Amino acid sequence: MRLDLGEIAAHLGKRIKYSLNEGPIVDDESGLKCVEPVTGEVAFSNTGQTIDVRGKFQTVVELECGRCLKAYRMPVESDVEEALPLEGQPWAPTVSESVDDETPDEEAEPLFVDNVFDLDEYLRQSILVNVPIKPLCDEVCKGLCPQCGKNLNDGSCDCTVEPDESPFGALRSLFKDELES
Ligand SMILES: [Zn+2]
Ligand SMILES: [Zn+2]
Repeated sequence: MRLDLGEIAAHLGKRIKYSLNEGPIVDDESGLKCVEPVTGEVAFSNTGQTIDVRGKFQTVVELECGRCLKAYRMPVESDVEEALPLEGQPWAPTVSESVDDETPDEEAEPLFVDNVFDLDEYLRQSILVNVPIKPLCDEVCKGLCPQCGKNLNDGSCDCTVEPDESPFGALRSLFKDELES
């Protein structure tokens, strides 16, 4: 959804509330997958200096666990607090899209041009900022067995070598062998 804020820009003190109900955002390029609509409310107001954007939105994203590769859902909730230039100059949010993105920020496309605000793109970027770079379904996720690929959260497998994740992994498996023999 692109919002034409021309009306607000033209009238000092004008305030418009906008109820968000954007269809689930799915973006292959960034891997973002919302499984619920983006809902919430934002208010645009002309303060004389800027168009203030204030509000809140929430949605639910589907992520893939970095350890066990299982898809899981995470609710995302975020405040909106921006100030758009009144003259309709191009504006881009200062938040960087993702921390490990190597492309420099100055290439960010402006989201506010000629008093038209690209709400969907703004929401997409805001949601991405709230998504962990290394998603985990659970902090104690056991991951996959490096040998047979079984999801160890569902139970242990019959492989003889324990997953060697820590320096103590080898020690631990030695210890276990002793117990079992
Ligand atoms: Zn996991
Ligand atoms: Zn295994």
